Amino acid sequence: MNIAAAELAARLKESVTMPMLIDYLRIESNRGYICCPFHSEKTPSMKIWDDHYKCYGCGEYGDVISFTQKYYNIGFIKAVEMLNEAFNVGLPMNRKMTPNEIRRAREAQQRRNEEKARSDRIKEQFNTLNILWASLDRIIIDHPVPDNERTAAAYRDRQYIAYLIDYFNPNEGYSEAFFSTQINEITKQFNIDLERSL
Ligand SMILES: [Zn+2]
Repeated sequence: MNIAAAELAARLKESVTMPMLIDYLRIESNRGYICCPFHSEKTPSMKIWDDHYKCYGCGEYGDVISFTQKYYNIGFIKAVEMLNEAFNVGLPMNRKMTPNEIRRAREAQQRRNEEKARSDRIKEQFNTLNILWASLDRIIIDHPVPDNERTAAAYRDRQYIAYLIDYFNPNEGYSEAFFSTQINEITKQFNIDLERSL
């Protein structure tokens, strides 16, 4: 996808949510579930979020644009054009972007990429904390009494990891560097092979 198309798609998705589209198409929604238009069914199994949808019946998954593409059997740009018009988003579909707009679009794309990368790293840190907790738990199960230094440390650190997991909140007081350091130290101290534990 070129930068102009990516920018148009991102801006469109900022303006048009899935519930808006469902409403527009007059599809009946029941507590956030609709009957999937992409397979035949009588009870709703497609869940609608603000920014995406997923069908638990047939596995279809995507955003407002892919929904529109499938619904009308049209291509990506056509779908963006259609939504742009239907919802009066005002995207400049039919003219070339100015150099300034292209530069800003690139910067916006880069910010989105960075945000995605950050959120992937945060997810991985959280998974790792859970793996560490499980690894230490195995040591503890093998040694019901902390009879040596390593086991005693496992008891102590398992508790500490539980605390870190509780405290883990990317929206509040969270520091990626802090969690990285803690994870590295515990991993090293107990010689845990994260690759093997995954
Ligand atoms: Zn389906």
